[in-house]
Amino acid sequence: MVSEEAKTVREALLWAASCLREKGIENARLEAEVLLSKILGMNRGKLLASLGDPLEKGEFLRFRELVAKRQKGYPLQYITGEQEFMSMNFLVEEGVFIPRGDTEVLVEAVLGLGEKFENILDVGTGSGIIAVILAKYFPQSRVTAVDISPRALETAAKNAEGHGVKDRINFTQNDIFLWQPGEQYDLIVSNPPYVPSGDIDRLQREISFEPREALDGGYEGLRFYYRLSELALECLLPGGVLAVEIGWDQAAGVRRIFDGAGIFDKEIQVVRDYGGRDRVVVCRKSVKNAGGSG
Ligand code: GLN
Repeated sequence: MVSEEAKTVREALLWAASCLREKGIENARLEAEVLLSKILGMNRGKLLASLGDPLEKGEFLRFRELVAKRQKGYPLQYITGEQEFMSMNFLVEEGVFIPRGDTEVLVEAVLGLGEKFENILDVGTGSGIIAVILAKYFPQSRVTAVDISPRALETAAKNAEGHGVKDRINFTQNDIFLWQPGEQYDLIVSNPPYVPSGDIDRLQREISFEPREALDGGYEGLRFYYRLSELALECLLPGGVLAVEIGWDQAAGVRRIFDGAGIFDKEIQVVRDYGGRDRVVVCRKSVKNAGGSG
């Protein structure tokens, strides 16, 4: 086994990949490359062109620390400080939920409506991915992005700045259950916490390093959908859209909650992810009754 004696980039990578593989990490070789690139401050391409180069002892020791951290399940994204989402790069850090590919289905469902939204509310913005992408896609829009976590909002503001949309996103730190909207929106979008409280400890070990408040959806994971339908009642314009991400087995529950609100059109759309599982619910606030005639 290669340990302190590691001499070259190639040897260090072989050693690290086997350490990671031992702990059940799937893309062990790739992750080893990402971690070593981080230590050496170079991109993967350059790293792979330097396989025969010697590593300094200090570099190897720091690499070993990162590998050990990753072996314990600490998420790769918190080590690298970034995550790609819809081919764009976003900052993430400890204390902030790591964006998942699942959420691309939500963003695409909204874009796929082919409408121009102007005043958007993003509930539980986390790292700000949804707010930033929608602000970019709808250049005339203003976005209000609410989150309970100051840490998440700091990261989201950096992401908005990095992608050039900071001036059109209003970040507010608030508990969504207490927050009182002061205006009307034509789109409310959310990837709320939706993991049933009792299931959280059974998920992948990486998840234990993420903020619980970004995942825990309470009983049956549905707590936030009640609040979202209340918000739609209070601050969604007639004809406006509510689009939310859901857990794969929550379509019926969420549909029941939204139906029960009595404010949406009958056709509630459920969109599946690439794995064929229910992932997104889209509904539209009814226009009838809005004029005060009925
Ligand atoms: N998709 C996430 C997971 O299962 C949960 C995201 C959420 O609660 N919004 O890891």
